[in-house]
Amino acid sequence: MIHVRELGGLTMLPQDLHVHSTWSDGDGAIVAEQTIGLIAEIRHARILGISDHFELVGEDRFEEYRREIRRAGLKVGMEIDGHRWVSAAIAADADYRIFHCYDRDPDYKALDRLLETDQPLIVAHPNALGTNLDRVPPECLIEINNRYVWRCDWRSYYGPFVRRFQFVISSDAHQPNWLNQTVARHVAAELGVREKLLFDD
Ligand SMILES: [Zn+2]
Ligand SMILES: [Zn+2]
Repeated sequence: MIHVRELGGLTMLPQDLHVHSTWSDGDGAIVAEQTIGLIAEIRHARILGISDHFELVGEDRFEEYRREIRRAGLKVGMEIDGHRWVSAAIAADADYRIFHCYDRDPDYKALDRLLETDQPLIVAHPNALGTNLDRVPPECLIEINNRYVWRCDWRSYYGPFVRRFQFVISSDAHQPNWLNQTVARHVAAELGVREKLLFDD
């Protein structure tokens, strides 16, 4: 099984579609350096998308947000905080959507509406929101989220559902260092530094 691939000396992850940028300004975890430009420059994953909080981007600025992501050559996503935002989120032009599905009826219903778009729908870090995966349609993609997954008994939470769903793996990065060691590797590559590997047999 291949989890990473070598590319120009950098180890690139196959995919990361849950990455925040300064467009999520207002989220306390975001730092000023987490720009779309830097994320695109680091390019830590082959399939890479930006998924800022829809309510922080704002409906009015979504087109500007979309254009900036496109110019950077990345996929256009968003993270939607529950059913209240669904109509506006569906109207916004994106490649995929990530949804906070809290354990409440209107949020499970919202999944059906979002699936009607025929665009990929990712259920965000369900273990952190108490999402009941029994109530989630199997067409949804389930996220294994680097920020939250280690905070739960993931084997008992996700284990029973590994055949019911398809999964995506995400960083949920809000800061450059959350993009993994690839940040330091990117800097070393830019400097022309070749890492000395110790204990390599
Ligand atoms: Zn989230
Ligand atoms: Zn997020």
